Amino acid sequence: MKVIIAGGGLAGAEAALYLANNKINVELYEMRPFKTTGAHTSKDFAEFVCSNSLGSIATSSASSLLKKEALILGSNLMKEAYKNRVPSGKSLSVDRVGFSKKITKLIENHPYIKIKREEITKIPETPAIIATGPLTSNTLCNEIKKLTGEENFHFFDAIAPIIKKESINFEKAFYASRWDKGEADFINCPMEKEEYENFYNILTTAEKIPLKTFEARYFEGCMPIEVLASRGKDTLRFGPMKPVGLFDKRTKQKEHKNYQFYAVVQLRQDDKEADLYNLVGFQTNLKWGEQKKLLNTIPGLENAQIVRYGVMHANTFINSPKILNKTLQSKNNPDLFFAGQITGVEGYNESIITGLFAAINMLRYLKGKKLIELSSKCMLGALLDYITFENHKSFQPVNANWGIIKKIEFDKQTRKNKEDKSAILSKIALKYIKEIKDGYFC
Ligand SMILES: Cc1cc2nc3c(=O)[nH]c(=O)nc-3n(C[C@H](O)[C@H](O)[C@H](O)COP(=O)(O)OP(=O)(O)OC[C@H]3O[C@@H](n4cnc5c(N)ncnc54)[C@H](O)[C@@H]3O)c2cc1C
Repeated sequence: MKVIIAGGGLAGAEAALYLANNKINVELYEMRPFKTTGAHTSKDFAEFVCSNSLGSIATSSASSLLKKEALILGSNLMKEAYKNRVPSGKSLSVDRVGFSKKITKLIENHPYIKIKREEITKIPETPAIIATGPLTSNTLCNEIKKLTGEENFHFFDAIAPIIKKESINFEKAFYASRWDKGEADFINCPMEKEEYENFYNILTTAEKIPLKTFEARYFEGCMPIEVLASRGKDTLRFGPMKPVGLFDKRTKQKEHKNYQFYAVVQLRQDDKEADLYNLVGFQTNLKWGEQKKLLNTIPGLENAQIVRYGVMHANTFINSPKILNKTLQSKNNPDLFFAGQITGVEGYNESIITGLFAAINMLRYLKGKKLIELSSKCMLGALLDYITFENHKSFQPVNANWGIIKKIEFDKQTRKNKEDKSAILSKIALKYIKEIKDGYFC
């Protein structure tokens, strides 16, 4: 018995390791390095294509709950993400190269996994899991369209630039975390009003790379900085460039304790050695020359050496409400499963955990056991409910958020407190997912 997995990204790598660890032979197809997606830069499995952050680990965060659920269900990738952690306050950020090299080694050395460095151009022989991601090759996209009879949807995602730390001017930039919470993990480039206005003018008049094929629709959580800026002059100052709680203790704060900058650009560590930093919230589709000009207007980044420019990509996902069951099995082809971003979930955590869940159900399917359907009491169940809900007016990708989890009645006191509410919901979700893990697993 063998399972074909199409795509060695986050979902495909997670699915391959789960099945192989359960002694199922896996053929893992990955088209890189012979054909690239335009966003991946290596031939390694499980590459993070943009930010190196898997989001918050604060109890009040929905993303944090999803990470915990993944760990309970036995996610190999999540475990490795924690092992390859780099400092970033209350979020989980990873050394992206160290992480994908480790996953690649686990896959390459696994006796039950056979790696095929080839593009899949047809719906694979089944049983199979398709996890070819938001940048699925065109030929396979067309085959999926034929199979499902549905048009693919497209929207756009963008990547933020990465720069070398040694090129940052620390006479202007400073280390700090907002409100001094935790370690001072972020590098901050402060702006006064005049500097911000100059930056804003350059940003809003800069040339963009034309988008070729379809009308641009963006995922709200990954909005290009130029699109955010077009919503109003202060949108960035209340968004990714929010200055509140960020103090440079060497200078302004000495003179005036609560001095607040007009805007602040934050940079997050990108690799374990802390040589590289990415600009938080600076995903962009500007032409590369314009990006350089823009970055060089930021105090502290006058001579920034850019190692990777921001880029924008189309993002493909299937019409899951019509095509998939809550088990991630396709409605018309029981031995074909889908996982990862192609199902309409959005984000690294979401892709990893759906890779795991598709593999869990594939294993049960192969063993003739009843497939697991999760309640929306847990975040994974809520995501699966959302992507397979048939009555969406317009189905759009979704990431972990408290709006989709099963509602409960809170007492009056708790209703007022967001932290308490999320703590209660998390407790219910984690208890449930542990029961699922203990009671049903093969
Ligand atoms: C440009 C961009 C930026 C993003 N930034 C973020 C971010 O900052 N944070 C976040 O949480 N999420 C982000 N996402 C969303 C998403 O979390 C990632 O794309 C994630 O990698 C999706 O995981 P996946 O396993 O579904 O797909 P991928 O990780 O993309 O894996 C799919 C794999 O399939 C391979 N493949 C494709 N077609 C074929 C084929 N026909 N045959 C064989 N192999 C094939 C690809 O080479 C790739 O390795 C971004 C997405 C894009 C497109």
